[in-house]
Amino acid sequence: MAVNIQKFKNIQEELALTDTQLIAVSKIRSDKEIMELYKAGQRDFAENYVQELVEKQILLGDDIRWHFIGHLQTNKAKFIVPFVHLIQSVDSLKLLTEISKQAAKINRVVHCLLQIHIAEEQTKFGLNEEELLNIIAGIKQQPMEFAHIYIDGLMGMATFTDDEEKVRGEFKYLKYLFDKYKEVRSANCNFSILSMGMSDDYKWAISEGSTMVRIGSLLFGRRI
Ligand SMILES: *Cc1c(COP(=O)(O)O)cnc(C)c1O
Repeated sequence: MAVNIQKFKNIQEELALTDTQLIAVSKIRSDKEIMELYKAGQRDFAENYVQELVEKQILLGDDIRWHFIGHLQTNKAKFIVPFVHLIQSVDSLKLLTEISKQAAKINRVVHCLLQIHIAEEQTKFGLNEEELLNIIAGIKQQPMEFAHIYIDGLMGMATFTDDEEKVRGEFKYLKYLFDKYKEVRSANCNFSILSMGMSDDYKWAISEGSTMVRIGSLLFGRRI
């Protein structure tokens, strides 16, 4: 397994044209692999597991902007709140409350995306529209309770399939929700980030309106 720096440069150029941000998904990758990409200029990395993220953050330091994209258990939020740049996988009001509570202790504001379930697979976490609406309303109604979080937008994962029409349809739906709830601004909620697209579908995601793609395999090689 080797880091593909040429591919990284190509993707960077491609994304620059549409002003899309690249997040390098570094789960299961070694510190050495991450540093290779870092030296080539990448600063935003994403992890799926709390313990792995905490260990890497300690070793690799503060100059990396760490994103969290896995399922976050409420009782583990406290471990990443002190340093995380963006939690992209918030899927309940309970979790958001805990993040805000932990962030308040250290007087930090933690930026978050709400994860929407758009795939047909049952296993993928995320909210439906009604739950999304409830969270947005909850934040607006109790601004003090949520004073230490900030909602920057939405994240979603499409179905794992090469059916382009299906995947595009799911991205379109996420973009529709993004545009709809972007109108609902409050003190700690203002959508500017739509995180959708991975190695196999990022081109479709960009043409459907993504502002941030999360890419692992294309940069680091296939996970085994
Ligand atoms: C693993 C993962 C990715 C990256 O997947 P690749 O196919 O390796 O690009 C993106 N988003 C999430 C939420 C992931 O878990």
